[in-house]
Amino acid sequence: MPASSLDQIVSLCKRRGFVFPGSEIYGGLANTWDYGPLGAELKNKVKREWWDTFVRSRSDVVGLDSAIFMNPKVWEASGHITSFTDPLVDCKSCKERFRGDKLLEEKLGIDAAAVLKLDQVKAMLDAEEVNCPNCGKRDWTEAKQFNLMFKTKQGVVANEGDDIFLRPETAQGIFVNFLNVLQTQRPRLPFGIAQIGKAFRNEITPGNFTFRTREFEQMEIEYFVDPAEVDSAFDNWQKAVWQWYTGLGIDEEHLRIREHSAEELSHYSSKTVDIEYNFPWGWAELFGLASRGDFDLSQHEKFSGQELKYTDPNDPEKKFLPHVVEPSFGCDRAVLTFLLEAYTEEELENGDVRTVMKFDKRLAPVDVTILPLSKKEPLIEKAKEIHTSLLKETRLNIDFDVTGSIGKRYRRQDEIGTPLCVTVDFGTIGEDAKQGDADTVTIRDRDTLKQERIPVGKLREKIAEHWKQ
Ligand code: ATP
Repeated sequence: MPASSLDQIVSLCKRRGFVFPGSEIYGGLANTWDYGPLGAELKNKVKREWWDTFVRSRSDVVGLDSAIFMNPKVWEASGHITSFTDPLVDCKSCKERFRGDKLLEEKLGIDAAAVLKLDQVKAMLDAEEVNCPNCGKRDWTEAKQFNLMFKTKQGVVANEGDDIFLRPETAQGIFVNFLNVLQTQRPRLPFGIAQIGKAFRNEITPGNFTFRTREFEQMEIEYFVDPAEVDSAFDNWQKAVWQWYTGLGIDEEHLRIREHSAEELSHYSSKTVDIEYNFPWGWAELFGLASRGDFDLSQHEKFSGQELKYTDPNDPEKKFLPHVVEPSFGCDRAVLTFLLEAYTEEELENGDVRTVMKFDKRLAPVDVTILPLSKKEPLIEKAKEIHTSLLKETRLNIDFDVTGSIGKRYRRQDEIGTPLCVTVDFGTIGEDAKQGDADTVTIRDRDTLKQERIPVGKLREKIAEHWKQ
């Protein structure tokens, strides 16, 4: 059972150190979020899983890490200067700004951006009696196009024409390096180039926690194929991505595929499907898969003057621009989905309710926690010794928690989703025969709540077994 309200997740994230409001001691900065110690660990694991699955374990995909700042011509070529816009309306009464298309979408369930022209938005808002969600009045301005790219100046002295943009997607960093990768790696079609990195969009209506923010991280692949193979590549990626999410614990029932209508397609795309997740506020985009044709490479050829064609290794006379299938993941949206999906409230036999984050064990921020039953010597010393040796012998994140009653500590570990807890008690140090034989510990499974007494010497093997399952 995933979380039924976003508030449950926001509150758990703050309480346990997954996600904090940005710049909090200064009163915050709207819609910015900072990943805390556990959130950073979770997010890194999501990125690691992604990179392992789609880059390292495939022979047809390589990675790169390109700069956020790019030559402004890139954004002319990509169409972002002219087309990366949203229709913006202001409420004249309270001065709040909204996306006109989103207001209509909420009211009518249509994709207004796709079916309406800019000068029709206000008339439609009035005709459909759409009131300002902030003050309740209806006094809209005409809609105007608003470019979503953040603009800044480069250099010490800012001159006209020095405008530079924070990239709104990571994809273009891949296209501008297409030739470099061709020349250095000599890949054969089909092949992909992947990268993970920050993107920035001056969203008019950010919100729903980390779902829509102005600074976020993407995980994108540009997969270059022979034009005749676009359809099969598209299908294969759709399946691979679906498998990635479900393999890491997202219930299939909470996912659906939605294909974009012809009107809705972006300027570069001939086919797009979104994978949507059933968020607490309804179905919304988690991931996008687009068939971009040769739009980007041909635009960059035109604007840069560089030839970007691929030469068929079997026929040097055959030179062409490959077509592109683009799987585009939002990293923060993926993390949010894993958080929502992991959230579980369970009624125990004694009637208590425990909150447990049932992360897939590859994603749980902490892998194993060592819990000494007491702070007394020599018990604590023994627990520290076990902790240190596990840290040395495994590549797992092994934590140590000594504060509070053992019951409270189990609850804390459940709430952060730690798959295994190891309790070191007086039996371990041979001081209490009732608790167990000397040199044994109790290992507790987060999901089954099963507790097993095992020799300290077998701990490493037992943990490794758990990760193999
Ligand atoms: P939306 O329709 O939600 O604005 P989009 O179609 O503009 O998204 P894409 O340009 O396809 O999004 O970006 C690819 C992915 O990047 C999205 O599927 C999403 O996971 C993520 N993403 C896009 N915008 C944001 C944002 N403002 N905050 C967080 N993640 C985002």
